[in-house]
Amino acid sequence: MSSAGAAQVTTDRVRVRAPGKVNLSLRVGRPRADGYHPLSTVFQAVSVYEEVVATAADDLTLTAQGPGAEQVPLDDTNLAVRAARALARYAGVEDGVHLHLVKGVPVAGGMAGGSADAAATLVACDELWGTGLAREELTSLAATLGADVPFALLGHTAVGTGRGDLLTPAMSRGEFCWAFAVQDEGLSTPAVFGAFDALHGYQPQPSGGAPVERDDEVDLMHALRAGDPVALGAALHNDLEPAAVTLAPRLSRPLAVAREAGALGVVLSGSGPTVAALARSPQHA
Ligand code: ATP
Repeated sequence: MSSAGAAQVTTDRVRVRAPGKVNLSLRVGRPRADGYHPLSTVFQAVSVYEEVVATAADDLTLTAQGPGAEQVPLDDTNLAVRAARALARYAGVEDGVHLHLVKGVPVAGGMAGGSADAAATLVACDELWGTGLAREELTSLAATLGADVPFALLGHTAVGTGRGDLLTPAMSRGEFCWAFAVQDEGLSTPAVFGAFDALHGYQPQPSGGAPVERDDEVDLMHALRAGDPVALGAALHNDLEPAAVTLAPRLSRPLAVAREAGALGVVLSGSGPTVAALARSPQHA
């Protein structure tokens, strides 16, 4: 499964998985006055999953397990809790839910694990509470929770514009094999965007926010349609990589190691610090 979907349902328990993602390309424009950066990105869902188990309850409670679970906030700031509250508010539900997160995606790794939790929670609570929202309604709610949440709901491969939340599905054939270099310490997304602005001398201003050119993705789209990993490796791109390396110079090492190991392409995933290396085969990965 490469989008958020109900995997298992009993009367008072729903289990949903949602995938993490890698940005095959991430292009970032000048910030607007409010600090918003326009993006043009190509997302691909990867077979690294978050699982959410939603159980009927009187209150709204949360637990988490899995690698990095101790770094995940269990209060109202958790994206899964925010998703459940947003759905309850929208649909006028007064029931509670206990959410249990099984983390599979690295925390604060640039692979949108929290966003996957939010997407899976929307699907799970919609099922548990019997609210039966249309896909478009769930997608609109997802966009209010974070720029990467609509993609976690959609999955597969898609072009994202705006904040990355305006999605157009893209065709991708075959299977690509990735190796992910996960870091012990996460990187804050706002800090990476701040370093990006500093490197480019960008100041938030009213003339910023213009859409980012998308013509550059012709080779990438062609590689995806052809299922050609060599061409895909050559087309990987992330405007945020120099900024992330400035903040975390240790990232130069996995980037270099992956290149030396003959990766077809190496790219920072999102705002990092996970480094994604495209391999020739599962064995090579
Ligand atoms: P993105 O790629 O969307 O920027 P990310 O993958 O880098 O996100 P996440 O793992 O989604 O990062 O989490 C980033 C921060 O958000 C964490 O450091 C944590 O404080 C907070 N957070 C809120 N909800 C969650 C959640 N359900 N899982 C993980 N982190 C969460």
